[in-house]
Amino acid sequence: MHRRLIVFILLLFTIQVSNAAVTAIRAGHLIDPEAASVTDNQIILVENGKITAIGSDLQVPADATVIDLSSRFVLPGLVDAHSHLGITYKMEPESNYYYLTTVMDGTPLRAIQAFSNGFQILAYGFTVERDLGNAGNYADTALRIAIEQGWVPGPTIINSGIIIGSMGGQFWPTPEREFLVYPEYLDADTHDEIIKAVHKNMLYGAKVIKIMVDSKPYGYNVEEMKLFVKEAARADMKVAGHVQTRDGALRAVEAGIWSIEHSGALDDEIHKMMAEKGIWRVGTETPQTDYHPISEKRWKRTVEGLKSAYKRGVKMAFSTDADYFVPGMNRGEITINFLKSWKAAGIPARDILKIMTVNGYKVCDIYDERGPIKVGFPADIIAVSANPLDDIDALRDVTFVMKDGMVFKENGTVKPMNFFHSGPEYGWRKR
Ligand SMILES: [Zn+2]
Repeated sequence: MHRRLIVFILLLFTIQVSNAAVTAIRAGHLIDPEAASVTDNQIILVENGKITAIGSDLQVPADATVIDLSSRFVLPGLVDAHSHLGITYKMEPESNYYYLTTVMDGTPLRAIQAFSNGFQILAYGFTVERDLGNAGNYADTALRIAIEQGWVPGPTIINSGIIIGSMGGQFWPTPEREFLVYPEYLDADTHDEIIKAVHKNMLYGAKVIKIMVDSKPYGYNVEEMKLFVKEAARADMKVAGHVQTRDGALRAVEAGIWSIEHSGALDDEIHKMMAEKGIWRVGTETPQTDYHPISEKRWKRTVEGLKSAYKRGVKMAFSTDADYFVPGMNRGEITINFLKSWKAAGIPARDILKIMTVNGYKVCDIYDERGPIKVGFPADIIAVSANPLDDIDALRDVTFVMKDGMVFKENGTVKPMNFFHSGPEYGWRKR
């Protein structure tokens, strides 16, 4: 007994020593995306993964590790508010690789893909990812917990677990292959099934509830969506709705859903209602590119939709749905390339930056605990060479990434070993 106590005290001491190190970041230009302002020559002190002080005349402890970003623009991490890390399918027009992937790639492989994709977007400065399903049998929860426990580096994951839909989810299986739907979608057609499906996702570690509003003619009505919202609220969770028809959008708005995912069905009138009700637009605006060709009509609609929502003052988040493989590109490059759509809509750099940071934390519902560079908050900090408030494309070249106080990328080079050494000592957190 006595011996155990000594070991325990020694262990505590070790943890104390390894965590007590202070890191001091010399930020040449510190950006506040909320105010669209820059403050020069700031020092940010980081201890135990959190920001402990910010100022120009701070005393840097003699034994602190100093990170020199005096020539850089330093800002909080970026957010992709809609993607799917646990799926990677081949991008080919008119193919059904999406279906094939869900059949060929089991959950353990999907979890490793999710880690790899998360790693890639973190290297591009995305420190938060709202991961909305299509991750097999909860590979998304596995990734979130692995990151939170310090086994692997990755963005903070706000995951949905399995997408809930009326029978069939987003798939159209044949009767003798009905099982193709599972576990990609959870069927919930009645009130009891809706409640049970929400509980199942809560049980298996979801942080947000994702539903298919209208991908079937028997999609959800207003009353059913209100039930989702009410049940999710019991665990302080929000409801994100995949919407692909105008009627579906109208029903979702009336039900008071938290966010509408995708923007293809949204028009000026719906934007007006969304602005009035404060409903988030998570538009997943695919840019026109060689590797993902979309019709001129669709591209025009995407850009016009962004313009309309911006003009109406709709709450918007940066989101991609970039869940495909492009030869020669990594997931981070594909993700940041969605800037193209926002620029095409003529939205000012300062607003795009706010949308990619502040709005991202808000739609993820973490704004009061993570995101902003603020004393007491986790140190999720990135740096770029030029001022993104002048030219948003500066975000394409993230040279430094700190996640939870640990340096993941420095001088353009990724350093994952910092994280692999952190292991469970870093924090055995609650699910
Ligand atoms: Zn999606």
